Amino acid sequence: MIEKNFIGHTLSAKGERVTRGSNPVTSEVLPGDFINATDEEITDTVSKSALAFETYRTKTGREKAKFLRAIAEEIENLGEVLIERCCAESGLPLLRVKGECGRTTSQLRMFADLIEEGSWVEAVIENGDSKRSPIPKPDLRRMLVPLGPVAVFAASNFPLAFSTAGGDTASALAGGNTVIVKAHSAHPGTSALIAEAIIKAAKSTDMPDGVFSLLHGSGREVGQSLIQNPLLKAAGFTGSEKAGRILFDMASKREIPIPFFAEMGSVNPIVMLPSSLKLSNAKTLAGSITLGSGQFCTKPGLIIGIDGPDLDDFIRDLATDLSNIEPQAMLSETICNTYNSSIEICLKRDNIKIETKDLFLKKKNFAKPVLISVIGEEFIKSPELSKEIFGPFSIVIKCKDIEQIKKILNQIDGQLTGSIFGEEEDFDDFSNIINKFERKVGRLIFNGVPTGVEVCSAMHHGGPYPASSDSRFTSVGTMAIKRFVRPISYQDWLNHRLPEELQFDNPLKIWRMVDGNFTKD
Ligand code: NAP
Repeated sequence: MIEKNFIGHTLSAKGERVTRGSNPVTSEVLPGDFINATDEEITDTVSKSALAFETYRTKTGREKAKFLRAIAEEIENLGEVLIERCCAESGLPLLRVKGECGRTTSQLRMFADLIEEGSWVEAVIENGDSKRSPIPKPDLRRMLVPLGPVAVFAASNFPLAFSTAGGDTASALAGGNTVIVKAHSAHPGTSALIAEAIIKAAKSTDMPDGVFSLLHGSGREVGQSLIQNPLLKAAGFTGSEKAGRILFDMASKREIPIPFFAEMGSVNPIVMLPSSLKLSNAKTLAGSITLGSGQFCTKPGLIIGIDGPDLDDFIRDLATDLSNIEPQAMLSETICNTYNSSIEICLKRDNIKIETKDLFLKKKNFAKPVLISVIGEEFIKSPELSKEIFGPFSIVIKCKDIEQIKKILNQIDGQLTGSIFGEEEDFDDFSNIINKFERKVGRLIFNGVPTGVEVCSAMHHGGPYPASSDSRFTSVGTMAIKRFVRPISYQDWLNHRLPEELQFDNPLKIWRMVDGNFTKD
């Protein structure tokens, strides 16, 4: 395992401080002193990335697709070494890590297919008309082009699928950008193994030195320095609202501001219509709240229903199911400490009822599922209750009527998802809830839990602030590529000087909008 920074194809270790991985299950410090990047190394990395961009942006879709597929293969070649290190650093179970590894390589191949086919550039052509009166119409041709060096902040809760070669990296590379990853301090070894795989793939597919870099070090130092580098053109981030907002503000306050795409906190409200208060749904929800020890951005953190005996029975069943689920390790000591202290603060409130028993575990870094309930009126008076608590925690809100549910949906922040459980006949009485939800969420789910995010073209994983910093973009699925590209129009341009995507005879045979019609002609 390489313990140095990857400045493109060059290894560098000028710093004195190190990052070490540790196993959250056993608290054992893992082998490897990963050298934190210095300011000088950060500057060199972004300069190299900017230089490599000049070559990488000219590679064809087929060439870039070959690179992405080679990364997927190199990751697979890492085999058990990667899986073992990732399990050790994250505390995640073997099956989850294997599944996440599969998701990572499939994402890379999904983007490879997208760019090889080529229509993603959204070519729009309006042929000129020299005879138009009173002013002749110019020939205009528009398509999407890459931005330049992109920084990616690896996520703690997806050490593979949203980290070094995860969705942000794959979509940025697919769009033709060079990438610099800020490794997450909780899994430096996993990051180093993947970085080595990416560099091997870059070399074997003749990609420029600097197409990919990996830097170790803290967010406060390396992360902030990266964001302020004038050659950086955009960034992707998954993590807390606090860190996301600090970095977003920095990106906006630069002399030349850059887009900063942050996916942050979400409590993913679930509305349980009266017909849905069943034992089977309590089980489903308990599974979703505790999946990955509740460390998913899509964990259901608010459950909203109409107060009464049926809701009380449902709460009892849900609390029993949660208590029966074996506690799991959290991703890091810091995350577990934050979980426990947030729960402690919450439980001290006198307007809540604790529904689960044995709230704290003595086992270090393990989290106990916790369910509380609160009546609607009290929830409305306590906006702090609608903030994300990262871990296996959820709140049931007991509302007096439909108007109160609507009021709560109006009051809460933007969310990644919202779910409605019920039968179709309930919708006549509760249809207003749907349009309240539509204004607040990026994905609306019927009779289903939000965890288990499908990676596909129709997925939208983003939502009004603070779910994400820009609700127009997704960080999951093929459309994630849109974050790292911008449109350019060519006016009255010489045909052979145009990008192939826009040339008269459509040599790439991609779908284009020509004079208002979708066509490959
Ligand atoms: P985090 O603290 O937001 O860290 C994410 C990234 O931002 C890391 O690379 C971190 O660097 C960097 N960072 C942290 N503070 C920074 C600052 N002041 N300036 C610049 N960069 C900074 O998230 P985390 O470590 O993954 O988990 C901590 C908490 O974040 C969790 O308890 C949870 O509340 C939340 N979280 C939410 C989601 C979600 O999807 N909603 C996902 C993950 C985490 P370091 O390497 O130095 O830590």
